[in-house]
Amino acid sequence: MVKQAIQIFARVKPNKKSVSAYSVDEDGHSLEFEVPKDLADGFINNKKDKYRFRFQKIFDQACKQEDVFEMIAKPVADRVLSGYNGTIFAYGQTGSGKTFTITGGAERYSDRGIIPRTLSYLYQHFSQDKSMVYTTHISYLEIYNEMGFDLLDPRQEASTLEDLPKVTILEDTEQNIHLKNLSLLQSDNEEEALNLLFLGDTNRMIAETPMNQASTRSHCIFTIHLCSREPGSATVRRSKLHLVDLAGSERVGKTGVGGQQLTEAKYINLSLHYLEQVIIALSEKNRSHIPYRNSMMTSVLRDSLGGNCMTTMIATVSVDTRNLDESISTCRFAQRVAQIKNEALLNEELDPTLLITRLKKEVQTLKDELAMITGEQRSDVLTPHEIQRLQEQVKVFLDDADPEVKLELGPDMRKNHYCFSLLKAKICERPSSYHSNGDSAVPPGSTVTDHMQSSSPTELKKLKDMLTQRDNEISILVSMLKKEKKRAQEALAQLSQWSPASSTATLPKDLSIRRSAEELPPLQKSLYRKQDPEFSIGRQEAFDIFKRDHGDQLIIDENKVLLKQRYSEAKALGEKVNNVRSKVNELKTQLELRRRQIAVQGVTTGSPVSEQADPVEERLLAQIEEEKNNYKSTFGRLKGLKTEIEHLQLLLEKAKIKLHKDFQDWWKHEAKKAQVAQPDPQHPVLEVTSTVPKSTTTVSSNPVTRSLTSSSLSDSSIPLTGDRETDEDILAFIRARQSLLNRAGALK
Ligand code: ADP
Ligand code: MG
Repeated sequence: MVKQAIQIFARVKPNKKSVSAYSVDEDGHSLEFEVPKDLADGFINNKKDKYRFRFQKIFDQACKQEDVFEMIAKPVADRVLSGYNGTIFAYGQTGSGKTFTITGGAERYSDRGIIPRTLSYLYQHFSQDKSMVYTTHISYLEIYNEMGFDLLDPRQEASTLEDLPKVTILEDTEQNIHLKNLSLLQSDNEEEALNLLFLGDTNRMIAETPMNQASTRSHCIFTIHLCSREPGSATVRRSKLHLVDLAGSERVGKTGVGGQQLTEAKYINLSLHYLEQVIIALSEKNRSHIPYRNSMMTSVLRDSLGGNCMTTMIATVSVDTRNLDESISTCRFAQRVAQIKNEALLNEELDPTLLITRLKKEVQTLKDELAMITGEQRSDVLTPHEIQRLQEQVKVFLDDADPEVKLELGPDMRKNHYCFSLLKAKICERPSSYHSNGDSAVPPGSTVTDHMQSSSPTELKKLKDMLTQRDNEISILVSMLKKEKKRAQEALAQLSQWSPASSTATLPKDLSIRRSAEELPPLQKSLYRKQDPEFSIGRQEAFDIFKRDHGDQLIIDENKVLLKQRYSEAKALGEKVNNVRSKVNELKTQLELRRRQIAVQGVTTGSPVSEQADPVEERLLAQIEEEKNNYKSTFGRLKGLKTEIEHLQLLLEKAKIKLHKDFQDWWKHEAKKAQVAQPDPQHPVLEVTSTVPKSTTTVSSNPVTRSLTSSSLSDSSIPLTGDRETDEDILAFIRARQSLLNRAGALK
């Protein structure tokens, strides 16, 4: 057993401006804040303006991700490898660098955080340590508003958090926590594990809407479950490593906006508040009750807080003057955390198969004892004679009208079970009232035509939805077109200012709106097909423009260039590896030849083989050794490059998905705006009125058809753009729509 206090570290987020409000002492153990007087007079403490906190180590602004991993995560990973549980959690206000520290930044490979580096370290260890057999499983849980969600749900369609499977807590009789519905996926190598991290992070990102901002208000727990055993041994070691990205620790006052946001902020505060309570309770001596059960997060992390775990906390702080009060409260919290002592046990247990063999033996002994006592040898199944006897007994029991009658079977579970199944069969045989209760799928009076008619409203509803969608698209596109036209005109005006002669200048290429999907560059086409096969051409055009103006596109482009570079580097290295390999083979052949020659010489000349080493052979051996080292280092570089390429690919994919999601959000927002907006009086407006005969709408009894032909759809005001070609398209669309509406009217 290892008894150790929770280790606390602090990390200072890089600040744009230099600030004098804080200092780190030379040996990096103490962090001091000096609060300016005006701030201190306000909401902190007007008596004290210097605050000093001690940590195991403080990582100042310039520190690298690699240093954080080496100092903080590697020792924990080593303990986990030797069979102890470990937890690293990041605590701090939103924006202070928790996610950056735990998962990493989205832009550069060198920004990889603790999770990918730890995975890399663990798998490297597995491949080197041949004395043990390791198995790894991964789970990724998000807790939001006291509800757990499985981030590793393999279904990709989740678009909100609620689409993800809900995870619930179960507690067994020994008060062990089990998480129901949380995927626990085996991953046999680094690449698989990174893919799971990517899947979870993507689900986390997609599930986030501007309304819920789940990433700042939820806790995410990435867990590596490790199982190791010596080959052939019956004992296994199981350990868990939790890597936790907590919700922002800012207080409710700052986020309190009311409505939904307030509820969320309150919840987050509540669960962090419960974390604090648990920590206070643990740091007080002689406290017997620790309130773990108050929140889901403290229940899940129960072992990590004052239990069987080696735990490390990273307090992330921002030293911007505006954030000083939050940073100070983060450090205060850390000091309390440092009081907690954990007791980490080696998690060794017996292999279940061995246990089963043992239990089987025990059962046999018990059977033998039973046979001795009862004087009869029992097999697992009843004899035909016993069965017949039981059937008679049951019949007598059932036929007897006396309510007091008993079925005496003796102390034999086999007989008890058999009689129960007989009784069940008897009950099922009797015609039961609820079977013929008219609860069948097809009502007695319905006909096939009824069924057909009931399906047409769904068809109509689909058409109706499509029409509304297209209406919105047109409105958005028209307004975008107007904006683009304005930009083009401004550009033209500027151009003509510079050179009056070039008044016939055409639109810059990227300002022109493409007319068809065929004109899209192939990469964009493939991207849009892959992500949303339902994208209309208009929406694709909007997406292209949106993408062009989106900030992340720059990162995507940069990473693409980098990826290409890495690919060609990898290719060159691959060729080099192959060359070195064939060179080694060639040298080996030469060596063999040389040795044979010397042996033959010895035989033909009859002289004994010289004791002295052959210089040619020595040279060849040295060359082989050199090439081997060359091979090893090149191969090592190639392997590193492969990991980097995989990581870059994932970053790129993530950025693309984010871009797409931002576009969807923007599109939805614009569609809403377009529905609300009044028609622009400056532009010609086309009024379309239904040609569906009024009489048919009034006799219609079908609610869906009725709404389809009602004014909301048949009369519409679509602004025209003034661009001849576009307006013709719009008019053609309106005519097509009208004919659809007419068909809908005729359907009834
Ligand atoms: P949190 O998860 O605490 O809300 P983030 O990790 O998302 O905060 O950090 C907020 C922003 O600051 C991100 O854009 C992140 O990339 C950046 N950032 C945080 N810490 C660092 C750091 N040590 N170096 C560089 N950028 C950082
Ligand atoms: Mg975060």
